[in-house]
Amino acid sequence: MDKLDVPKRLLLGPGPSPVPERVRHAMAKPLLGHMDSAFLTIVDNVQDKLRTVFGTQNPLTFPVSGTGSAGMETSLVNLTEPGDVVVVVEQGVFGQRLADAAGRLGAKVVSIKVPFGETCTLETLEHTLNEHSAVKLVAVVKAETSTGVLQPLNGWADRVHNRGALLLVDAVTALGGLPVEVDAMGLDVVFSGTQKCLAAPPGLAPMTVGRRALDRINRRKIPVSSWYFDLAAIGRYLGQARAYHHTAPISMFYALDEALSLIIEEGLEETWARHRAVASSLWAGLDAMGLKLMVPEEHRLPTVTTVQVPEGVDDGRLRAYLLDHYNIEIAGGLGPWAGKIWRIGVMGQGAQVSHMMTLIMALREALDDQGVSVPSGLSALQDSYRKRGRG
Ligand SMILES: *Cc1c(COP(=O)(O)O)cnc(C)c1O
Repeated sequence: MDKLDVPKRLLLGPGPSPVPERVRHAMAKPLLGHMDSAFLTIVDNVQDKLRTVFGTQNPLTFPVSGTGSAGMETSLVNLTEPGDVVVVVEQGVFGQRLADAAGRLGAKVVSIKVPFGETCTLETLEHTLNEHSAVKLVAVVKAETSTGVLQPLNGWADRVHNRGALLLVDAVTALGGLPVEVDAMGLDVVFSGTQKCLAAPPGLAPMTVGRRALDRINRRKIPVSSWYFDLAAIGRYLGQARAYHHTAPISMFYALDEALSLIIEEGLEETWARHRAVASSLWAGLDAMGLKLMVPEEHRLPTVTTVQVPEGVDDGRLRAYLLDHYNIEIAGGLGPWAGKIWRIGVMGQGAQVSHMMTLIMALREALDDQGVSVPSGLSALQDSYRKRGRG
């Protein structure tokens, strides 16, 4: 009956991540109309569950139609006006994208350029805020997928708010995999994507908008330059008015609803702990194999591990070997790290110790295929996992 032939892969790259059965089945349910009260109930439920996962009470918490980048566009186009000074932390490819997108909207972008693999310190942020008056917005990536760095944001909101600016956070590779805690951290606008740690297919960009950000939007001098991503218009569909703006991607709402239920059933803290434990065991395994991790442990992201491609190994050939022989997908590097690193996702349903065992066995064989012989990392991986108490 169905002619579409799709190979079965184990998705261990930096997204999309494996989608659980329950989520795939949810997507196959019959379509509803976007104004049907049965569907609007699902919209409300998704919003409630997103508030739980984001750690926020913000009424305007919803999934933007589009992938994670649509969340970035929505955030920037609503929060900035031409000429606004926007500070962007560029510590990787996704930070660079924020700067690019803000610049296209006519913002005066002040970039904090951080070398690949490093974080931006609070001192650097303060220094930049001291040097530039009238900063309107500070934009930063919490989990930099291109480098595997976890950017700490403790103390950031206070510094930013003291200058009358807002804090915008890209939490695409963070939400569902590690604490984001929007209200506790004082974050003003945060966006994410469904296909990383939330374990749904790509297609929605969960987002939350706080009170300060709404005040800013309400005081805009010129209308939001994007018709599709205008938060005021989208808000009229989500709110009492239920006014049609654009057709909600119905099946993706089913998927997100189910994916969020899975996280809430497992428990938020438990989900984060699983990502941590599985990532730590992967690190122990890679370490035992003599492979070099790109980021020191204190700033290492649990959801994406970056590994140096050993001397003499062909990156593309190795990844093709994993795919052809084991149906395993991992990714190469981006920007200055293209061809130099591998990126391994420990995300959503991909964050299982058994998947990491499969991966490091296959990786060892793929290295051997290129004449590079390394020790097995298996027992180190298993020992690490057992010590964490989740064996
Ligand atoms: C994947 C990713 C994005 C972009 O999301 P898309 O779903 O590909 O549009 C943005 N920021 C970060 C940190 C990401 O990892």
